[in-house]
Amino acid sequence: MPLSPSIHKNEYQYNNIVAYLYETHLHTTGVSKCAVSLGADYITSYIDKGYSGMIVTDHFYNANCALSRKLPWNDWVNRFCRGYEEAKEEGDRQGFDVFFGWEETFESCDDYLIYGLDKAWLLEHPEVRKWTRGEQYRAVRQAGGCVVQAHPFRQRYYIPRVVLSAGCVDGIEAANGGHEDVSFDALAYHYAKKLGKPVTAGTDIHDANAVYYGATFGVYSDKKLNNISDYVKMILNNNAAGIKLDNETLDFRSGSKEPERFKLNGSEEVRIPVEIRDGEDRVTGGYWKNYL
Ligand SMILES: [Zn+2]
Ligand SMILES: [Zn+2]
Repeated sequence: MPLSPSIHKNEYQYNNIVAYLYETHLHTTGVSKCAVSLGADYITSYIDKGYSGMIVTDHFYNANCALSRKLPWNDWVNRFCRGYEEAKEEGDRQGFDVFFGWEETFESCDDYLIYGLDKAWLLEHPEVRKWTRGEQYRAVRQAGGCVVQAHPFRQRYYIPRVVLSAGCVDGIEAANGGHEDVSFDALAYHYAKKLGKPVTAGTDIHDANAVYYGATFGVYSDKKLNNISDYVKMILNNNAAGIKLDNETLDFRSGSKEPERFKLNGSEEVRIPVEIRDGEDRVTGGYWKNYL
């Protein structure tokens, strides 16, 4: 694939403005049960695609994690972080930034991307395994991180209900590369707008080959991010430059038009129960269409 000079520097240019592009949702094999690629396998392909960095977000303790829950906590954490560490080693070799995060699941329903906490923090906080959504939100924020609900409107055979955690998140992943039905993304986008929360996009990638044959997603930053705290600040301050969708860009600065992917046409359906939760993680009983 031919590379333009700007892409060589790992900067991405659109609308004549340089921005840096980051993968925000990525899984590694050996840690995420459903992933097929090692962390290191992603580096070259994301560099080729013009990304400046990626955040490894493997499935966490109550999610589709490959690690035994019988392991002592220290061992579990050490193994959990290995996917990220292997990616980071290769990233360091190639001059590509790799940051740490994770993705936790509640009751096989709703998923959250956690950014800004690290291995040392995890080792000190084994109670993370038993968090409720509310405890997760308060603890992550207190530790300097942020919580983004991943693909809130996803509907699949293994998901019993859609849970919208309206009060315990800092942002919403509006565009997800794993969605064959893009109406899930349109719903998520309008839900985020209604809440007034920042939107993100992530490929939710499980296979490094998909960088070439599939669509890739991500978040643009005006500045190069030096660490995961820079990403957290960008989300909390709601000052990302934009998001990359399949083959569209939503530039937050220019107020570019709503991407096709986010257009509602009235035929969007949710075929499973929808539960909306507030800042205390209590079910509100509200009707989901009032949240669009
Ligand atoms: Zn997965
Ligand atoms: Zn995921």
